[in-house]
Amino acid sequence: MRKITNFKLVFLGSLLLLMLVLPVTLSTNRQTSTIVADKMTDAPPLTRKSETVDCNNTHSLLTEDFTTAPSYQFTSELEPETATISSEMQLNYTNMENTSLTQLVFHLHPRAFRDYDGDIEIMAISIEEETFNITEWRVMADLLEVDLNVPIQPLEHMNIHIYFVTTLPNIASRFGYVNDPESYFITNWYPVLAVYDVNGWDRSPYTFAGESFYYDMAFYELELTVPKNFQVACSLPFQQQSSSGTTKQLIYEKTLIRDIAIAASPEFETSITKWNGKTITSFFYKDQELDFRGSQADELGKETLIVYTEAFGEYVWDTLSIVSFPGGGGMEYPGLVLISAELYLNWTSIDRYTEVIVHEIAHQYIPFMLGTDSYHEPYIDEPFAVWCSIYYYEAIGQTEAADIIWDLEYGSYLKYAGGNGDVSLDHDMSYWEAVGMGYGMVIYTKGALVLEMLRQYLGIELFLDCYRAMYDQFRGGNLYFTDFINIFNTVSGLSLDWFFNQWFYQTGLPWIEIESITSTGSVVNFTIVNKGGDWFKLPLSIELETPYETITQIRWINGSSTNLSLTLNHFTENGTITVAKNQFLLRKQYTSTISADFEITIITSSEITNQSSLAILALVPIIIISVYNYQRMNLKRRKKGK
Ligand SMILES: [Zn+2]
Repeated sequence: MRKITNFKLVFLGSLLLLMLVLPVTLSTNRQTSTIVADKMTDAPPLTRKSETVDCNNTHSLLTEDFTTAPSYQFTSELEPETATISSEMQLNYTNMENTSLTQLVFHLHPRAFRDYDGDIEIMAISIEEETFNITEWRVMADLLEVDLNVPIQPLEHMNIHIYFVTTLPNIASRFGYVNDPESYFITNWYPVLAVYDVNGWDRSPYTFAGESFYYDMAFYELELTVPKNFQVACSLPFQQQSSSGTTKQLIYEKTLIRDIAIAASPEFETSITKWNGKTITSFFYKDQELDFRGSQADELGKETLIVYTEAFGEYVWDTLSIVSFPGGGGMEYPGLVLISAELYLNWTSIDRYTEVIVHEIAHQYIPFMLGTDSYHEPYIDEPFAVWCSIYYYEAIGQTEAADIIWDLEYGSYLKYAGGNGDVSLDHDMSYWEAVGMGYGMVIYTKGALVLEMLRQYLGIELFLDCYRAMYDQFRGGNLYFTDFINIFNTVSGLSLDWFFNQWFYQTGLPWIEIESITSTGSVVNFTIVNKGGDWFKLPLSIELETPYETITQIRWINGSSTNLSLTLNHFTENGTITVAKNQFLLRKQYTSTISADFEITIITSSEITNQSSLAILALVPIIIISVYNYQRMNLKRRKKGK
């Protein structure tokens, strides 16, 4: 998601404010970075490994072609007068866990909107098979729990029917409807089976600040009845339609996907682009100004898919819908993204329209093709989506735009951390909902900056190789953060635990200074002091510049104080040591460079001349005495010889 709820709007507002008030004075110098792993002087060698990574996915029984995945079949009708969707859902469920289950647990996310008159009401539940009976079902908080009379064994299956009515709240939100322009956004709207993981059924609540997509991949089929004049966007590919009276029935193709979302309005217009067998559709309001960018969104969607396909792998679904909506920011769903209608009118130097569209499309990779537990580990998908939205500019050759955005992200996080303190990335959504602030700045902004540091360290090719390996191994499954670390370590052949430990699990930023410079002959000794905390281990670029030469090396600093030395090739009197130059390094200082001048005390050439003259003068009496003695000795010899 890119900030859509109130919580996110606050963050979005803050970010925009920062963009307006924060002068672009920081030079993060990332465009000329030299910090790549294969240039490290004392880093481990860069070797490639091809072992597959042990995966935390608990679905060990799931077949490779997903034929045993859950299968949802919906017959639904949208009734605009009541803003409700009445549905019969048939779920074909096979127990793919290694254990028998006496209960099925479903999320009822619309219940989180009861304060806004949104809801989901379960009308009836039944099971086709005679083997199973429902002893009891109950709605608890935002969950539906169904108790079975006998446990369902591994590989055993059942068909369960749930009749329910979803009521949309009258709010401009990712889930809700508005009257003007009349439009309905039907998302997280049905009883969805919770993930059964190492902790049992996942009962995490819906979060307004984050996402609720910790689902297993499943087959989805939909037959939807809407008024005849409605245009409908859906996560699934459209198959066919028929009409009767004032309504029409839309049938969508059975698709293996993680969730389905629907947007419907009589006010939608469409613009369609085809690419690589996929249909990219922009749904936008019939409005002259909106039309201008609405009819471009499908083309932007295509360009984005081209960039991400090259970077990470194929976009697997046949359709992608980019839908204008009256809420703020944007919101991702599999095969469908919601983009704030406001952004279609937003012509600023920082192009939020493009940024949000490419951000939401990045989520198609994580957390949709690769699932994540975004309640417990929100620090996988959002840093990735922000990073992608900036990388997009770089990939299409607009590196200047990428640099400007990185500078803004960098400056805004330092400003935030300067006022509120740095926060580690590893918190779950219960932490963020409790503290009520900082989620956007830490998870989105710091998270993306941390990924960019990793990319600068590994180099773009190796960094993307790691994500491609992740895509190959986890597509369709769920990826946990331990898997994420394993992939980076395995594919890079480097031990990157130091990086993940300090940048994801620790709090604090480095503050680097150069102290105690001395010289012994041609060797310059100095100490790098880190005042930001003694746990940091960093590869640091060191530059020693004299009137005769420039020496650049990458050296590790470790802890609060590291002694280093560099050897000069040419004698000199003075020079400058600069660290972290051209290095993308998140640190407390607002200064763009950290440097210190030094002088070397040696005898100068004029001193040598003066001292030589004195030495010669001192020798004069000795020479005179020696000559005198020599002459006397010769005189004596001559007298004797006579
Ligand atoms: Zn997002």
